[in-house]
Amino acid sequence: MTALLTPQTDPRHAVLFQPLRIGPVTAPNRFYQVPHCTGIADRAPEDVAAMREMKAMGGWGVVCTENIEISDDADISPYAALHFSRDSDIPRQARMADLVHRHGALAGAELAHMGLYSANRSSRLPGIGPSSRLLIEATEPVQARAMDLSDIRALRHDHRAAAKRAKAAGFDIVYVYASHNLSIASHFLARRFNDRGDGYGGSLENRARLLRELLEDTKDAVGDRCAVALRFAVEEFMGPDGLTHDGEGAEVVQLLKDLPDLWDVNLSDWSNDSQTARFSQEGYQEPFVQFVKQITGKPVVGVGRFTSPDTMVSQITRGILDFIGAARPSIADPFLPLKIAEGRAEDIRECIGCNICLSCENTFVPIRCTQNPTMMEEGRNLWHPEVMPARSADDSVLIIGGGPAGLEAALSLGRRGYRVTLAESDAVMGGRVTREAALPGLSAWGRVRDYRLGQLAKLGSVSLYPSSRMEMDDILGFGADRVVIATGAQWRRELVGRGGRIGAAQIGPVLTPDDIMGGLVPAGRILVHDIEGGYMGGLIAEKLRLSGAEVTLSSPNLSHSGFLSLTLEQDRVLRRLIALGVTLTASRDLAGFEPGSAHLTSTLGAADLEIPADHLVLVADRVPRDSLARDLMLCPDRVQAAGILSVDRIGDCLAPGLIAHAVYAGHRLARMF
Ligand code: ADP
Ligand code: SF4
Repeated sequence: MTALLTPQTDPRHAVLFQPLRIGPVTAPNRFYQVPHCTGIADRAPEDVAAMREMKAMGGWGVVCTENIEISDDADISPYAALHFSRDSDIPRQARMADLVHRHGALAGAELAHMGLYSANRSSRLPGIGPSSRLLIEATEPVQARAMDLSDIRALRHDHRAAAKRAKAAGFDIVYVYASHNLSIASHFLARRFNDRGDGYGGSLENRARLLRELLEDTKDAVGDRCAVALRFAVEEFMGPDGLTHDGEGAEVVQLLKDLPDLWDVNLSDWSNDSQTARFSQEGYQEPFVQFVKQITGKPVVGVGRFTSPDTMVSQITRGILDFIGAARPSIADPFLPLKIAEGRAEDIRECIGCNICLSCENTFVPIRCTQNPTMMEEGRNLWHPEVMPARSADDSVLIIGGGPAGLEAALSLGRRGYRVTLAESDAVMGGRVTREAALPGLSAWGRVRDYRLGQLAKLGSVSLYPSSRMEMDDILGFGADRVVIATGAQWRRELVGRGGRIGAAQIGPVLTPDDIMGGLVPAGRILVHDIEGGYMGGLIAEKLRLSGAEVTLSSPNLSHSGFLSLTLEQDRVLRRLIALGVTLTASRDLAGFEPGSAHLTSTLGAADLEIPADHLVLVADRVPRDSLARDLMLCPDRVQAAGILSVDRIGDCLAPGLIAHAVYAGHRLARMF
């Protein structure tokens, strides 16, 4: 239900529950789920609609779609999108609007033509743009054609038709999109893409003409019943090559001032808009977007990984924003608004700013979330983020290991009503989360542990035992009906990596990320050899450099930390390492190491490298810590004699992966019990 003021609402948060008019419609509160992608869109519209409905159920006053392509030549495949290019698309999108309306929220539709970003791989049409340019999202050597005036008329016609379809589908807010470097209107605005000599090029007023026309067309087509929102990036971080918040970005706001019914403002490109916790804090967009409300009289929504109601209130009372926009915080906790309304902000499952959700969009699969294992399971598996089914038996459960898998299993089984005991050998709970959250910039990752410990403290049915190492006999003698092994994994000390290449390396003493996270601070010259290519290699290099060591980061891969291109962090990470003075060398196999020197060969046939190195830290893969589980499996008779009905293995001790995988495994097991 729409989150409204309740007797339990903290009076300091009351402003978040004031309704606000947006053109011809009224939002019930200030919680606004801005458009965000899902990784599947029209490939599974029912699942997407169910996910959006969950947001409305959780109290978001406005719930928006992701990009809706307005025409065939807006095609961004293989990336997922919705469609309003034909009337036959209307029922599919209407379903989402209908489900959102059932809970009192407004539904917003983000119409988009992605211009130079639309590679049109499926439609096979030529791309279009203000001028002929290489396509932005394409490794192929393919260019867009420059639009003539009849193309501009056709685009306006398509946008108007799509707006009418959005209205027919029941949407309350219809977007014109000009953000993230992903929109044709942005491409016309940008000098770097627009060298036209007609009324759509040259002066800013001319470059903004298409955007103005799209806004006017949309208002004319649907403005009687629908609010028209403009999603606009005020800053592109390119200096004079792009829009800046104190230059042309602000001038565009001045030019269009009160034309849209709502300004949805943010930063471009997507990596600047969706910054991770490693590089920014809650509210990081404020310095760039704060000017907008001083120019327009229309309501403004902005984002910034908002999870604290006090910060949200401050944004509104200080006149920065009218609506608290959220994509990731609404993914991590669809019920965030209701929790604030009910005065239980401590129950919010806060986004940790890891961008695993974005990595799914970039790999074309349903978005998953580190914190919220039910994301995109609402429809296909009927998983509710706040409700677990009651237990199906009166069994007691012993969980070994208090990392993300064990903690999530304990919480979810506890919520089902099972009697749970969790034993953790360390004095501190959290497993890898606790260790990784101590790496530079990752303290917010500790929320994975803290949320679960906070919720467990409210449950009477789960007992936590830190500093309790369990061996086989302890488990057999414990008397639990069911046993769950969640003992994690440890970094490998041998040279084995992706693709199985082992190499003939003679390597001396090897350190691993576990040693460094465990507090070892080697000094001198250190080689960090990162075979894995995830986030760990760069973090270990950064940590060691910050402690004063001379660090080289090498990798057999073509570039460093390749996985982070999916979380939109790779550039930032490499820039940070270079700024810190870490030496980077890619496409290198480690052929030998003895304290004093490391020998690196080239995977591309370049000359060998001999580099001075006192220590080697190997970031290879991880070895499941599964001896307990295997011992139990080898003795089925003893297990049976101990009255144990089942032994399950979850998380990294089964298959090392991301924290998101471990949380999901714990949750899934609890659902399946
Ligand atoms: P996951 O990501 O699968 O949750 P982690 O490595 O984060 O894995 O957590 C596993 C936890 O299990 C670690 O905190 C580790 O200390 C704990 N652990 C490992 N073996 C035992 C054991 N025999 N008894 C109790 N706890 C254990
Ligand atoms: Fe936040 Fe990470 Fe979940 Fe994305 S995956 S919503 S960044 S916690």
